[in-house]
Amino acid sequence: MSGFDKVKRAGAVKQVTSHSNPLVKEIKGLVSQRKHRTQSGLFVAEGLKLATDALEAGWDVRYLAIGPEALENPIAQKAAATAKARGALILEVNTAVLSAMTRKDNPQMVVGVYEQRLHALAELSPSQGTVFVALDRVRDPGNLGTIIRTVDAVGASGVILVGDCTDPFAVETVRATMGSLFHIPLYKTTKPELKDLISKWPGTVAATHLKGSVDYRTPVYTDPTLLVMGNEQQGLEQDLADCCKTLIRIPQTGQADSLNLAVATGVSLYEIRRNHLEL
Ligand code: SAM
Repeated sequence: MSGFDKVKRAGAVKQVTSHSNPLVKEIKGLVSQRKHRTQSGLFVAEGLKLATDALEAGWDVRYLAIGPEALENPIAQKAAATAKARGALILEVNTAVLSAMTRKDNPQMVVGVYEQRLHALAELSPSQGTVFVALDRVRDPGNLGTIIRTVDAVGASGVILVGDCTDPFAVETVRATMGSLFHIPLYKTTKPELKDLISKWPGTVAATHLKGSVDYRTPVYTDPTLLVMGNEQQGLEQDLADCCKTLIRIPQTGQADSLNLAVATGVSLYEIRRNHLEL
């Protein structure tokens, strides 16, 4: 039985001072092990901004660990009160325990444990005005987090994780999203399912490819748009590229072989969303 199962005191406040408390161990496990996150369906997000984002967006908070600094911060106090009212267990901890939980010397004053949300592809609705990004086997947590943040920034609708991807709920990914994880739906699918979606997609399907013959600034991107991005090392799998009518390329000069995946996604999204973005 895990520490989470043992301590069912939702909607309460508990002081935790020992590193060997089962909850501290469990949170450490969620920080460091994908297996643990997958089995429990939980994940950790560090920081007050992310806690506020999660609460505003209605995510389920299981635990909120708050350090000494948070006890004197009105925003942190409000977040803790909201989380508690929604049934979370508030853990009042010292800085050493926060450090142990997060394996960081300078931990954030608030550390939250949230329930994961990952949708099936069948739940995706390619309605008018939507833009989705499909990522073929994205491997780097920083890239995935940055892409989720960029999708949020341009007002796109969601991210589709195709095949064996890095964990969207890893601490590094969550950190890189800067809170956008709580606002952008994530879909998990397989390559065959994505191919099926592409074949039925009502608008533009544009895949980015280093051998693409179309300058990414020339197509008329018809709503809804599906942007397909390749893996960091291997690019887009050829059979996936073959399913996409338009292979777009971002022109480059200089000696770089390619752009970073998150940069290429950002550049493409800003072009696709060009007419919807203004200062
Ligand atoms: N060696 C890989 C290859 O041959 O495709 C490089 C992959 S690149 C680092 C990761 C992804 O970013 C690519 O699969 C593509 O989706 C996108 N990308 C990077 N630079 C691009 C460019 N100049 N034009 C279009 N897509 C690009």
